[in-house]
Parts: sequence; structure tokens; C-alpha cells
Amino acid sequence: MTKFIFVTGGVSSSLGKGIIAASLGKLLQARGFSVTIQKLDPYINVDPGTLNPYEHGECYVTEDGAETDLDLGHYERFLNIPTSQANNVTTGRIYQTIINKERAGEYLGKTVQVIPHITDEIKRRIQLLSQTGKYDIVITEIGGTVGDIESLPYIESIRQLRWELGRDNCLTIHLTLLPYLNAAKELKTKPTQHSVKELLSSGIQPDILVCRTEFPISMQIRRKLALFCNVDVTSVIEARDAESIYDVPIHMLKEKLDVSVISKMRLVDRNEPNLERWKSFLGQLKNPVREVKIGLVGKYIELQDAYKSIHEAFVHAGVANECKINLISIHSAQINKNNVAEMLQEIDGILVAPGFGERGIEGKITAIQYVRENNIPFFGICLGMQCAVVEFARNVLKLKQASSTEITPKTKHPVINLMQEQKKIQNKGGTMRLGAYDCTLAEGSKAYQAYEKIDISERHRHRYEFNNQYLEKMEAAGMIASGKNTKRNLVEIVEIPTHPWFVGVQFHPEYKSTVENPHPLFVEFIRACTNSKNNR
Ligand code: GLN
Repeated sequence: MTKFIFVTGGVSSSLGKGIIAASLGKLLQARGFSVTIQKLDPYINVDPGTLNPYEHGECYVTEDGAETDLDLGHYERFLNIPTSQANNVTTGRIYQTIINKERAGEYLGKTVQVIPHITDEIKRRIQLLSQTGKYDIVITEIGGTVGDIESLPYIESIRQLRWELGRDNCLTIHLTLLPYLNAAKELKTKPTQHSVKELLSSGIQPDILVCRTEFPISMQIRRKLALFCNVDVTSVIEARDAESIYDVPIHMLKEKLDVSVISKMRLVDRNEPNLERWKSFLGQLKNPVREVKIGLVGKYIELQDAYKSIHEAFVHAGVANECKINLISIHSAQINKNNVAEMLQEIDGILVAPGFGERGIEGKITAIQYVRENNIPFFGICLGMQCAVVEFARNVLKLKQASSTEITPKTKHPVINLMQEQKKIQNKGGTMRLGAYDCTLAEGSKAYQAYEKIDISERHRHRYEFNNQYLEKMEAAGMIASGKNTKRNLVEIVEIPTHPWFVGVQFHPEYKSTVENPHPLFVEFIRACTNSKNNR
């Protein structure tokens, strides 16, 4: 039978529940268990696809086209296995399911209520992943903080599940904060005691406390927490601020979080965790032999989480190249023809980020023209690729009015435009080209050199596409389509063969980069940047 682990958060948000869940998942996986991680989000949006990145950071996309919370990115990067629609559930989706059923007459005559209807639906969604038969352990992270009104149905659902499935099969880990009071020179336990009381008042006794702290937790404090929160002393786990998120599994290993989980759930332990690859990754991460400066050109740069997967893909690609990457965020709206040379002066390569809407577009195009003309490596993702096509059309094909119809709906030269099937769509949520699509690479291209194969599959999240009417002219002028979806005749990758490294992709390679499988395009881009730095 599948075992269920729930991760709740107390005291404060942003304690890193996603990283703790992913780290525990990694340790259990390294012991030979098959593990998946799920996130329950208490907001009413059906999915985060319609949210501005400033709200909750990047929208992550799964193979099967779900637009999800960015924590799923951490789960995939740590566990190296794909997630799916079932791995992210929101209150919006739960209510939508129930309301659709009500309208269909399924509850005819009955009053539809939070308990039992909403909680039953939550429990069904939690157990859905176990029904695939693929997992020994399902870890479910509950978004938000214990005590929030909107989390209550989730907390009640895990209370019921524990009762229904038995104590050995369900375990609750509570992630909390031990604030340090400088004046008293002390770590304080009271907020944690209160937050555990809050959980208790909902009928849940946490089994393990994971305590975020800036300083080591003494045995005295461990005992105090254990006594007042009613847990074993060995179940008080210290989670000290880490240099990198990739250190956290090792910290948790030292604190024996996995051992505690295994003994409490009476799991039959198979092996000592095999973390050889993880440790060698960490070793390389901390001992780079070279360094490059990459400009990340985007419009959400104030918030690191907005480009989370891109940041992490750079970490993975840096390790693969034994290279430290200094990622310099450049606000696209601040770039213009007069300052571009100065802004990109010390940059060894630029990545132009994905995005929506008009803001910052001209700055992106200006930056692309500069790196194209100056042989500086360029990597464009989604909107970044579309901007590269517009730039090439304007400045090489001399179609001065070339644009994307997203930016200029009535442009004379719509080099990027909406696909026919997208034109009919009115609703915003879940209606883009989403999830994995096949792509065939041109042999000898830069893309082919990176992947070392012809057939690839990558994840998408966009509405607009390369307009094939311009393909012949573009190719004749030196920008080729090196990757295509042959089924739908769509251009997926453009590149300039005469440039040291100029590649734009319509898909999102960053979603598939993991610690154990750094993405080949990121790896090759960094290699090109180190070469270009050496040649300067
Ligand atoms: N806004 C563009 C589109 O919808 C690009 C989207 C993106 O960068 N993810 O096609």
C-alpha cells in the first residue's frame, strides 16, 4: 500500500516547504522507494496559468500540459521524474469539479457542503496518484500556512485520511520557523508551539517538526520543542539556511529526516541512500574552474522566482561546464539603442526570456540586434525566440514594420502570428499550446549538436507561432528553421549558422533541466559563452 506524507507550514510563509518536500523525496528515492510529490494550493484560481508572475512566481508546465505551481519544478529537478496534472490541485479546481457535478444533477436533492463534498474531493485527489500503482510514497505539500482560513478544508481532509488509512500509512511533517532574537541572543520556540497548537485544534498531531533556523538548534531547544509539541526528540529536525537549495537533501540526511520517516511509517528499509551523483554534482557546483557572465533579459527581473526554472537550468548547465555563472538580470524596458553597448559591455552571452504582452519588447529586440551583429552568444526562449525572428525580419530582411501580432495586431508583416485554431479561442485559462510536442532537428545544426539526436520532445506554453509565409525569405537570408514539428508544420527552433551561437526556441527547455540531466541547450549555450569569452 502507498504511504502518504503531508507537509504543512507554520509561523510564516516562504519557509521552503517545496524544497523540504523535494529533499525528503530525494532521500527516500535514493533508498530505492518510488516517490512522487504533489502540491495542494489553497487559492481559487483553477490553475496558476492566469496569474501574473509577480503573484506566485513562474508558472511551471508539465509534460501533459498542466500549468502549475513552481514547486513542481523543484520536484522534477530533484527527483528527475516527470509530474503531471494530478500533481497540482487548487481550491479552484476542487470547487469547479464539485460545482460541475452539482449542475449535472449528481447531488440531486442534497445540500452540497464543504464537509463532506469538498473534503471528499480533496481526499480523492490526494489518493489519485497512489492509484496509478507507480508509487510507494506520495508526498503532499499543503500550500499556505496553518491557521489560514483557506487551508482549513485541506487540514481537515488530511485528518480524515489519517483516520481512514491508519496511522502507519499517513505522516505529517510540520515545517516551522525558529526566529532568532538578537537582543536576547536566543532562538525562540513559542511561535512553533503556537502553530502546533493550531494544528492540534484541527485534530492533527504533527509527527515531525522541521525547523527553519539561522543558527544551530541546541539539544536543550530540541528537548523543549519535543516536550511542548509532543514529538520525539529525534523528530525535531534542524533546517539551517543553506548555501544552495541543492545542499538541503544532504542537510536532511545528516539530521536523519529520512530515518525518522522510515521508522514512523514502518517502511521496510531497503538500502542506505545512494546519493553519489547528487554529491558529485554538489562537489562540482562548489568548485568551478571557469566563470561567465550571462545577461538574463526579461521584464520580471525584480522577482527571482519569475524565472525560477531558467535560473536552475543555468545552475545545472554551469556544473556540466565546471563553470560559475554570474547571472546578471537586465530589465528589457531599460535597454535602448543608445545604451545597449554599455549595458551588454561585459556580458559573455544573453538569454532573452519568455513573456507576454508588449512591455519591454523593443528593448529585447535591441539587445538581440546587438548580440547578433557582435557575435555574442544568444539564447531565446519562447517570446525571446519570437523577438529574434522579428529583429531578423526588420534588420536583415529590411521589413521595417515586421512584428508579432501579439504586439502589433495590424502589422503589415506578421512574422509571428496566431495559429488558425487559436483565433477562435475566447477563454484564457488552459487554452495555449501547452505541454510536450515532438520536434525534428536538422542534422548538423547547433540544436542537433546539443541534443545529439534527431527526434526530441519539449514543453510549450504560448499562443503565437512563426509565420511560415516568411520562412523561405528568412532561410535565404541566413536564419534557418533547425527544428520543426512536422505533424503541424510548425517552426520550433530558429538559428543563424554563421553566428557563433544564435539559437531561439519556441518551447521551454528550462522545464526539463534537472540535476541529473542538465538541459543540452543550456549546456551548449554555456559552452559557447565560455568559448566566446576566451576568444575576446
Ligand atoms: N507571448 C508569446 C505567445 O503567447 C510567448 C509566450 C511565452 O514566452 N511563453 O506566443
